[in-house]
Amino acid sequence: MGTSSGPVVETSDLRKEYPTRRGTRVAVAGLDLAVEAGGVHGFLGPNGSGKTTTIRMLLGLARATSGTMRLFGEPVPERLPHVVGRVGAVVESPKFSPNISGRRNLLLLSRSIGAPDTRADAAIETVGLTGRDGDRYKTYSLGMKQRLAIAATLLKDPALLILDEPTNGLDPAGIREVRDTIRALGEAGTTVLLSSHILDELGDLCHSLTILELGKVMEHGPLDQIRARHASGQTVSARVAEGVEALQGQLEKIELVTNPRVEGDSVHFDLPGGDPELAKVSRALHDAGLTVLELHPVKGEISHIYFKATKGEVQ
Ligand code: ATP
Repeated sequence: MGTSSGPVVETSDLRKEYPTRRGTRVAVAGLDLAVEAGGVHGFLGPNGSGKTTTIRMLLGLARATSGTMRLFGEPVPERLPHVVGRVGAVVESPKFSPNISGRRNLLLLSRSIGAPDTRADAAIETVGLTGRDGDRYKTYSLGMKQRLAIAATLLKDPALLILDEPTNGLDPAGIREVRDTIRALGEAGTTVLLSSHILDELGDLCHSLTILELGKVMEHGPLDQIRARHASGQTVSARVAEGVEALQGQLEKIELVTNPRVEGDSVHFDLPGGDPELAKVSRALHDAGLTVLELHPVKGEISHIYFKATKGEVQ
């Protein structure tokens, strides 16, 4: 329930400079961000691209050098006290008491904000800790600790959840547990802003995406649209019965084709002319005596989009 029907999170020309010994370091360089209500929004970028700094500014933990920010349509940090009740965030590891159970920790927190005890139990169920909630906190795995941290943010039943690299340091099982939790929250209608530098974390989780590099937006929008945009550059994957070497050799002779490269048992190549040229390539391979088993455009995969958007640069 926002006070405006616009984006839940919005920044405009947001800038953050840190003083350094040699001058200033620009951490966020005129960032325009818009996160619509409901679902998971990925905030993706290499280390040092400004994700944490942006989140800290939104939460009033760092001061912007210039630009504007809004949460639920309200200007922040000025109106933060009015909206903070609707925002849950895991930015740094929360402090839980090691010698009491996860549930007891949550109950203490929920009572401190005047929430009913049932809220703690609902949060435990949402993050999938039921059955382990009576165990002492210090016996939890990293994944369980992280899920308890998310549970703590759910106590106030937030409409917006901001998670800064929530799977950092987790093993694959822990990553899956936390992802499942985030997916379920997004599907239940919570707006989740999820920062990550792990590409694969976001591909099947997000509805929309903002890709940052060096404090600037390189790409943003609904994931479907971003994928469609990047698929039009036309990378094609081909596989023939005769094997990759024969195929690569033949592709090199076809003028329409550029940059054929082996990818597992397939060969990928670029087709600057796009889809209409695909039939010609198929015919040329057939005429050369090759048995084509597969020939299809490669979808705009998130890693492809990311590296194209950021040129793979890491600060
Ligand atoms: P990561 O994926 O590593 O968490 P990030 O995208 O969250 O990276 P930030 O932590 O926001 O990036 O950092 C952006 C830039 O600002 C980096 O160059 C970083 O060194 C710099 N920076 C961050 N905090 C400070 C600070 N307190 N003082 C000076 N520079 C800082």
